[in-house]
Amino acid sequence: MKAVIMTDLEGISGVDTMEMVSEKDTPGHQFALERLMADLNAAVEGALEGGAIDVYVVDGHGGGKNFIKEMLHPKAVQVDSAGWNELIRSGQINAYMEVGAHAMPGTFNGFLDHVQNSKAWYNYIVNGRKSGEIAQGAIFAGAFDVPFVMVTGDQAACTEARAFLGDISCAAVKRGVGRNKAVSMDLNDALKEIRKAAYEGMKCIDSVKPYKPLMPLEIILELYRTDMCDSMMERCNGVERIDARSIRKNVTKVENYRDILF
Ligand SMILES: [Zn+2]
Repeated sequence: MKAVIMTDLEGISGVDTMEMVSEKDTPGHQFALERLMADLNAAVEGALEGGAIDVYVVDGHGGGKNFIKEMLHPKAVQVDSAGWNELIRSGQINAYMEVGAHAMPGTFNGFLDHVQNSKAWYNYIVNGRKSGEIAQGAIFAGAFDVPFVMVTGDQAACTEARAFLGDISCAAVKRGVGRNKAVSMDLNDALKEIRKAAYEGMKCIDSVKPYKPLMPLEIILELYRTDMCDSMMERCNGVERIDARSIRKNVTKVENYRDILF
């Protein structure tokens, strides 16, 4: 069996202040990257124990460059975002997982809640339902019949994943206190939880249905300010402006992850 693990930084265990994510070249940020590798390796280990033979991992936060390569689990194979797209599309992936996930914008106590661009994207709405990056991953994987079986992150991210995806395997490694702070669980316990969740995720491949919202998808993006909407209209093809701050697109087929972005 083959598993793909997408990563983000906001939902990593021990990452409990906004600065640890945003202030590069600081001891806090370095610690966050080390914890990213620890959480990821725990998930890789659990996936292998759960029956995965090949485990592909993606450095997903802020366009990559977060992994500390020498710390990566020796059996994990890192792929870039193009490689990730190809893998999901290949029809050979049995399980999709996310490590370090965060909740959609507008979530109470969602640590660093946002979708894609925290400065510009206010709401991202798919078929009338406010959605975030967890749903985006699920839509893309689901389009190729890959079930989203496991998520790790703060409590809000795990709650959101279950609201969209049903009874998937979760490791809630911290809870947000307002938006910009979190209280993490014991770090060694977090790794045990992640490993167990990945193991259990592999065991629920057959019971978790791939996420397939009705097609065509109607995707509405509400931006914070009208000028942000102006520049989106200049940059994006195939989108329609529906009011001063909102644009819409209809997606008839998801062929690439970019199809559901703007
Ligand atoms: Zn991120």
